[in-house]
Amino acid sequence: MGLIYEIADAVLPEGAAFDLRGRWRGFRYRGDAVHCPCCSGDFVKFLPFGAGVLRGRLCPRCYSLPRHRLAWLYFGRRTNLFTDPLDVLHVAPEYTLANRLRALANLNYLSIDLNSPRAMRAMDLTALELDDASFDVILCSHVLEHIPDDRRAMRELHRVLRPGGWAILQVPIDPERAVTYEDASITDPESRLEHFGQEDHVRVYGSDYTDRLREAGFTVDEVDFAATLDPAECRRMDVRATETIFRCTK
Ligand SMILES: [Zn+2]
Repeated sequence: MGLIYEIADAVLPEGAAFDLRGRWRGFRYRGDAVHCPCCSGDFVKFLPFGAGVLRGRLCPRCYSLPRHRLAWLYFGRRTNLFTDPLDVLHVAPEYTLANRLRALANLNYLSIDLNSPRAMRAMDLTALELDDASFDVILCSHVLEHIPDDRRAMRELHRVLRPGGWAILQVPIDPERAVTYEDASITDPESRLEHFGQEDHVRVYGSDYTDRLREAGFTVDEVDFAATLDPAECRRMDVRATETIFRCTK
């Protein structure tokens, strides 16, 4: 899922033309076969995107992929994100989610990234220029697998989260691995692709991912949200029934 998104991010330029193209495609593919919860659109189909294991289904209008749609559903049905006044930190903001979160009047919203022009501020996740306990909510999806010192990044995220707050910290997990695989001596893109599945990943997390989050101080709840959805609803919105949501609290 992360691989799809990151490739989507890399190859799709943004700006007015990007927005207009989405609007035009939303009109062109309007219909009633599929539904995107992110933009509330109904379409004849989602668009094929990527290939092989990277294959995903893109919303014609807002460019959401399955994991964005699952996240948006989760936020709306299981959290206070759309209703309460909250200070929100969004790390490595995804196009479709960032646009919608910024538009929510109840949120005091900040997005950060090391170098993405989409983010409101440039910042290193391992050295956040942010006060302790200053956010009610943190969203950070498919970022930690890129960071050599991910434990330090996790500690920083824990530091800036308020007690009582919650964070959604998603990474790609290989369910076949009990132990995370990483090797700091593997640095060239080709070898990283071979060993870690993507040219800019520095590890493959196993099911011990949650141990690292707990070491950083978080209480971790592995939420099987997709499994609670009606199968027909999953198909209609094309969300994956297998993705675990890592809800971390302080
Ligand atoms: Zn959409």
